[in-house]
Amino acid sequence: MSLKDETQVAAAVPERLDVVVIGAGFGGLYAAYRFREMGLKILGIEAGSDVGGVWYWNRYPGARVDLPSIDYSYSFSPEIEQEWTWSEYFAAQPELLEYFRFVADRLDLRKHFRFNTRVTTAVWDEARKLWTVKTDRGDTFVATYCVMATGPLSIPKDPEVPGIDRFSGQLLRAAKWPHEPVSFAGKRVGVIGVGSTGIQIVQEVGKDVGELFVFQRTPSFTMPMRNAKLEADYVAEVKRNYAGIREAARNSAVGGVRPQSTRAFFSVTPTQRRQLLEDAWKNGGLAMLGTFSDLMTNPEANEHVAEFVRGKIAEVVDDPVTAEKLKPRGYPIFARRPCLDSSYYETYNRPNVHLVDCFADPIEEINEKGVRTRSGEIELEVLIFATGYDGLTGALLACEVVGRDGRKVNYKWKDGARSYLGLMMEGFPNLFMTTGPNGPAALANIVRISEHDVDWIAALMTHMDENGLASVEPRKEAEDGWMDLVHVLSQRTLLSKAKTWYVGANVKDKPLGLTLFTGGFHKYREYCAAAAQDNYHAFSFERSRKPVEGHYPAAMEQSAVIPL
Ligand code: NAP
Repeated sequence: MSLKDETQVAAAVPERLDVVVIGAGFGGLYAAYRFREMGLKILGIEAGSDVGGVWYWNRYPGARVDLPSIDYSYSFSPEIEQEWTWSEYFAAQPELLEYFRFVADRLDLRKHFRFNTRVTTAVWDEARKLWTVKTDRGDTFVATYCVMATGPLSIPKDPEVPGIDRFSGQLLRAAKWPHEPVSFAGKRVGVIGVGSTGIQIVQEVGKDVGELFVFQRTPSFTMPMRNAKLEADYVAEVKRNYAGIREAARNSAVGGVRPQSTRAFFSVTPTQRRQLLEDAWKNGGLAMLGTFSDLMTNPEANEHVAEFVRGKIAEVVDDPVTAEKLKPRGYPIFARRPCLDSSYYETYNRPNVHLVDCFADPIEEINEKGVRTRSGEIELEVLIFATGYDGLTGALLACEVVGRDGRKVNYKWKDGARSYLGLMMEGFPNLFMTTGPNGPAALANIVRISEHDVDWIAALMTHMDENGLASVEPRKEAEDGWMDLVHVLSQRTLLSKAKTWYVGANVKDKPLGLTLFTGGFHKYREYCAAAAQDNYHAFSFERSRKPVEGHYPAAMEQSAVIPL
């Protein structure tokens, strides 16, 4: 073999890593840091050109977090907590992206990531106890562990209407927003979708537009955000007390410091109830959700609160016909993600803003000129899709993930997503998810969950290293038990009573079911900690043999499942 041939063969052998981390959002960025600090050889792969996850992609006008910035930030580094200062109570997307960049620079994390790269397949090699990960750029990597830090909302969804490709105007997707500024001044603009994203877009674009047409199918409940600049004194106080704030967040159901009352709705008089709701409305944010203890379990209490918000819509919106169309009915308030706005309902008082009720007048097609509904054609120069995501499961299903014995994730999840703790799956050794399905993903602070999940994974990797273990997966009984618990708990809440991405209702042919742990973040942490006790009793391990020289460890044919 010539020297040149030898070089080519060497180059063709994929680099052996300890961990491949997929995604550079909150979970992926922290995972890269945490695993690097453990001395592991890591590689991050990210489809975007920079860090930031959803905040990299969602650059649409008005994009803003609906949890307090103080809560919605990393807790693992006291230095970063002190060095970074949030400017607003609810930070806007540019500041959130700046925060990600600050963290990446401060910890020198970018060098671990391969950007502009999408994973296409991840295949478990049982003989070598390794994941082989391939990308759309033709790379192949092999790693002991594969960590899917792909987030619950990373695969956007177009509306299921014909003719999208025919539109001759400017088509914009909220979740793939251009990096250059977009001007709407004087233009005829359409927005399809009125979830959290659509509401933020409508109130912002509505300020400076020729004509705005909002295509609404199911109206959302939205409440005042009441955002404010953070005063220096407040920030200083927070910085002094970060440790306590984080501790309180970790021990709460929502992973944040939001007050949660233990008072049941009907335990107080109608006058007191009204006053408490008025106060919550005035205070803004998600205060209303925490005003009573039983809003997600008592349909009657829930309906009272829904009616209160409907009353507010009628107070704000001048035209009674429009107000009526904007009032959500037929599902419990908070069963869809509660939205926060600053002037959403007020936007409909502008003479150039028009609400199209897509239940009464459904979209039939998109064509060259705009949107054709049953009643006629609406010509548009710009059309914006705010039509949501293939939530929770979309990212794993978008690439081919093949586990032990050739089992594919899409087959495992054909009747609905299954996992143990939202972190691992039986049949998929050494594959981890952060904020995965059947964890608390959409129901608690994603930053707290991400940090928790990465720490939990890191502890398991340490355990394996210390005990000479080559692979780990949850036992089938453990996963079945967890799924039973997730199911039983989900029956106790009103969360599954609305057609949302929480239950998979927004994606055609997706199995229906609430694949979220509804017991609260604090309880979730307890279950994860318990699973790690007694040498990770809920898991099966295979022990590695002493590695031989070369690119790969020893063949594993003699390894056996050992109950620990
Ligand atoms: P979403 O809540 O799933 O809303 C999608 C919207 O598109 C719905 O109104 C849906 O109507 C509509 N839609 C889909 N197809 C349609 C069609 N053919 N015709 C008319 N309407 C159609 O998605 P999202 O607004 O992107 O929000 C997703 C999640 O992202 C939120 O729940 C939240 O967790 C997160 N988020 C958070 C923030 C924040 O922090 N402030 C901001 C944005 C998003 P139907 O309901 O009738 O299907």
